[in-house]
This record gives sequence, structure tokens and C-alpha cells, in this order.
Amino acid sequence: MKILVLNCGSSSIKYKLFDIDSKTTLGQGGVEKVGMTDSFLKHETPSGEKIVLQKEILEHGAGIAFILETLTSKEYGGISSLQEINAIGHRVVHGGEKFNKSVLITDEVIKNIEACIDIAPLHNPPNLAGIRAMAKLIPGVPQVAVFDTTFHQTMPPHAYLYGIPYTLYKKYGIRRYGFHGTSHRYVSRRACEILNVKYETQKIISLHIGNGASATAIAYGKVIDTSLGFTPIEGLLMGTRCGDLDIGAATYLMDKENLDTKAASDLLNKQSGLLGLSEASSDMRDLEKAASEGNLQAQTALEVFAYRIKKYIGAYAAALGGLDVLIFTGGIGENSWGTRSAVCKDMEFFDIEIDETKNDGLRGKETVISPKSRRVKVIVVPTDEEFMIAEDTLKNVTRF
Ligand code: ADP
Repeated sequence: MKILVLNCGSSSIKYKLFDIDSKTTLGQGGVEKVGMTDSFLKHETPSGEKIVLQKEILEHGAGIAFILETLTSKEYGGISSLQEINAIGHRVVHGGEKFNKSVLITDEVIKNIEACIDIAPLHNPPNLAGIRAMAKLIPGVPQVAVFDTTFHQTMPPHAYLYGIPYTLYKKYGIRRYGFHGTSHRYVSRRACEILNVKYETQKIISLHIGNGASATAIAYGKVIDTSLGFTPIEGLLMGTRCGDLDIGAATYLMDKENLDTKAASDLLNKQSGLLGLSEASSDMRDLEKAASEGNLQAQTALEVFAYRIKKYIGAYAAALGGLDVLIFTGGIGENSWGTRSAVCKDMEFFDIEIDETKNDGLRGKETVISPKSRRVKVIVVPTDEEFMIAEDTLKNVTRF
């Protein structure tokens, strides 16, 4: 069984081809700068060789055709023909309230994904373009949609409702949906495997901290709260997104700076967060370097960043009524030991502590970083959303 996982963003298409039986990867990579003349494909062959192929790719269909060409090429490919691909799994960002699990894609499912474009205008259209292109290029091969939002659909109304008139929730679907669900699902299950504890018995806080960031509270295998909301801007401070902000400040700024909704959205989504506060960079590596060289504004940005995460741990420990496992994942969660250390500092009263001999220098490796003496297990788990999508795809296609 060979499964191709696709993640179509607005200007990029990531892919990974799994051979489920031999548990190997038959090629992976991504097309970048879709829609521009200087687009290119970065590909890793089954033997691990990395190549870059330049080609003008003006839309998703052409990008996917180029990926399939590369995967079946004599020189770089892992398969000899497209017939070898048994199923395709797609990352779909928004499933609204319609989907509480991954599904086999039918015309009805496509209609429902289309219906969510209104609330995910940047993400669902490229996801749909990928689904349509695949249906054209290899017709008849089953496709499965794995949504970023479904894992969070178990949230109770008291966690997902905002304090706005209820009729507006009903009319426009304005509520907390949450994102990064596939990542939170993967790392929370994987953490329990590593710790050798039963998933359904644990109270877990999962921290996915990359350019985008979110905290999720999981009680006995079900999400009870998550920090990203109606759109992926709420909650933690992010690379360029502001996270929690007094809405009064946003409307005040719109007045003072004469911003329309598009300009306000750009300001808060693209020019804020670590970038806005530090006025140096949105990238954690740059900021850690700048802070260590004495850049005070970078230091302050890092403090705000860690403090916000700490606050969410406190809130979610209260919501969960205790805590067993605290997970760090995402580019920063997996690699920045300084962030992990700052977040967990002075949390002994919660029985949270990090053993710095395990944390210091740790990058991208499954590791328990708390001392044995502490009840809360703090663990680094590199995320693997593609694997989770492949697993869901397999489940959906073998059911029939
Ligand atoms: P995205 O949300 O775009 O998927 P990632 O999960 O790849 O983002 O995370 C990107 C972030 O991870 C960047 O801020 C980057 O600086 C940070 N990062 C990656 N490697 C390291 C490292 N070795 N040390 C500190 N931060 C790192």
C-alpha cells in the first residue's frame, strides 16, 4: 500500500510518499513559490539525496503534475508508475463544524469544504485545488481529507463559545475551532506511547510552538480547550501574529491609523508577534542570537513569548483539574531549549520542572526532560503530521 500525503498551501505544496508495508518513505519534498516565475521543487529521493529542480509553476495543478513526474522519474523517483499510488491523503485546514473525523472525499465532502471557504479564505481554496488536481491526474484513486480542526471538535460549548450574541454564532459560525489538530493528536498519542501510559487516562497539555503556535488541553484523549480560535491568530504570541489582544486596542488602532479590515488584518497577522515586538525578526534562531548579543528588545520579545505560554499552562491545568504530561513540539518547541527552560521556570508548585542536563542542547529528539522525581512528565516530541495523515488515509480506504 502506497499513500501520497499532500499539504497544499497558498504558495507551496508539500508532499511525502509512504510505503506502508515496508514502513519507508519513497520521496518527499515541496514545491515553493507557486504562482511565481521563479518557483522550484525541493525533493528528497528514497536514498536521502536532496535535489532542487527549477520550473515555472503557475498553479497548483501544474505543481502537482511536476511532483508526480518527479516521484515517477527514473533518476529521482521511488515508484515506476502512478498506478502504484493506492490512496492520497490531504491536509485540509478548516472543516468547520461539519467534520469531526477524517473522511473519504466525495462530491458531498467537497461541497462542505467549499462551504468553509468563507471562514478560511486563505487555506481551503488551495486545499481544494490539490484535491481537484489529483482527481484529474490520477482519477479513481481514493482521496481522504484530514482536517486541522477535527481533533478540537470535542470541545464543550463553554470552551468554544465567545461572549458575543448567540445568534451571531448561529448565523456565521463564529466560535473557537482551533488549528494544528493533526499535530496535537499525533504528539499527544506518541507521548503516551513513549511514557508507556494509557492515553485515555492522562491529562495533557500539548504545546505546538513554531511560526504559528497553539496550546491544547486534552483530558482522557479528548480536547477540552485550545488557544487558536475562529482564525489562527488567537492565544499565544507567534512569529508574526499578535495572539491575544484587547479587541478595543484593535478598533482603536483602526481609527487612529486609518486602517481598513485588510490593513488591520495584515498588521496583526503579518507584522506583529515576535517580529513586531523585537523589530528584528520573526525567527526564533535570529532572536536568540540577538538576545544573547545584548539586544534588549529581542530579550523582551522572548520574555513575552515564554510568559504567554506559561499563562496558558496555568489556565489549562486549571481547566483540566491537574496535569500529567506537558508536551513541546513544533520548530521552536522541538529545538529551542531556551524557550522550554523559560516556560517551565518556577513551576515547581505545579510539580513541573525541567532537568537542564537533559534539556540543554536538545534538538528534535523524543526525550523526557523532566526529572523522575516530578509527577508531571515534560516531554519533547517532534511532530509528524504527514504520518498521521497517512495513517488516517489508510484507515479510511481500508474500511471499504
Ligand atoms: P511553521 O509554523 O511555519 O511550520 P516551524 O514549526 O517550522 O514553523 O517553526 C519555525 C520556528 O522554529 C522558527 O522560529 C525557527 O527559528 C524555530 N527553530 C527552528 N530550529 C531552531 C533551533 N535550532 N533553535 C531555535 N529555534 C529554532
